[in-house]
Amino acid sequence: MSLNEFSLIREYFSALGESAGVALGVGDDCALLEIAAGQQLAVTVDTLVAGVHFPLDAPAGDIARRALRVNLSDLAAMGAEPRWFTLALTLPAADEDWLVAFSAALAEDAQIFHCALVGGDTTAGPLTISIQMMGEVPSGQALTRAGAHAGDWVYVTGTLGEGAAALQLFAPGAELSNPVRENLARRFYRPLPRLAEGLTLRGYASAAVDISDGLLADLGHIAECSGLGAEVQLAQLPLAPWLQEVASTEQMQAWALSGGDDYELCFTVPPQLRHEIDTLIARGELSASCIGRMTSTKGVYCLDAAGNRVMIADTGYQHF
Ligand code: ADP
Ligand code: MG
Repeated sequence: MSLNEFSLIREYFSALGESAGVALGVGDDCALLEIAAGQQLAVTVDTLVAGVHFPLDAPAGDIARRALRVNLSDLAAMGAEPRWFTLALTLPAADEDWLVAFSAALAEDAQIFHCALVGGDTTAGPLTISIQMMGEVPSGQALTRAGAHAGDWVYVTGTLGEGAAALQLFAPGAELSNPVRENLARRFYRPLPRLAEGLTLRGYASAAVDISDGLLADLGHIAECSGLGAEVQLAQLPLAPWLQEVASTEQMQAWALSGGDDYELCFTVPPQLRHEIDTLIARGELSASCIGRMTSTKGVYCLDAAGNRVMIADTGYQHF
């Protein structure tokens, strides 16, 4: 049997988590653990490997911010608030200049996002950064991947595609204007975890996921965990206007659907709550767009303006 990233996890690790106090184990953006009456700890860990998740010569401060923020994005997807994190650092050498820049950026971001470094591990080897992030959420209020129903509306925050477009930055010979280069670098190294949106969505969203592997793959997680399918209206995908300078509409749509690294939230809203979400959006209290609907038929499909299904070859990033 050939293993992909998700079948590997399911086959070898997902059955090890049965224990008292585990409200939600392997399979969502965070695990949820009962820590006190009415309060749950949301826990997640993400690893960045040099040459895989960022270029070998990436600035140390940028690596620190990205490592922290991709973890915060998983908390946002659960509607949890950040509290503490641990840092496992594998370094090729004890380079003081690198460490000064890395720790300063980490300290700055930890302050911005209200979380504290409380432990970790340091080893020598190829540059690898693992951050384990812990946050809190009142019991029963976390947003999970499993709560969607057929007929729920599908929304995404912000704009999609820039995470994947940012790989242009690293393409040899890519000619980019300065503003475009800066926008792409900001989106890649400083993704904005949608923590405030995650909190706002408690009580409105029936399910949520953060978009790290690509919209189709991550919406696919909501669909699979909820036992459903989904339809996405291609024309409704929110695309950043400035991106048009480097790409065609087709390219931008492909990045938005399959590229990943956007760290926006994809969430579902029951029909009876749609008006309230749209009111928040109209008042400027939530930056989000409605892009589709959950279906009782399995599979995630894209529809063109005429309502016809469009085949998308690439459905998202997987490590294996
Ligand atoms: P995310 O992209 O939200 O970080 P992943 O796709 O990396 O989530 O992982 C999917 C689920 O599998 C998560 O619940 C994660 O905690 C779990 N997982 C991934 N790798 C392992 C592992 N080696 N052991 C146990 N659980 C794992
Ligand atoms: Mg996630």
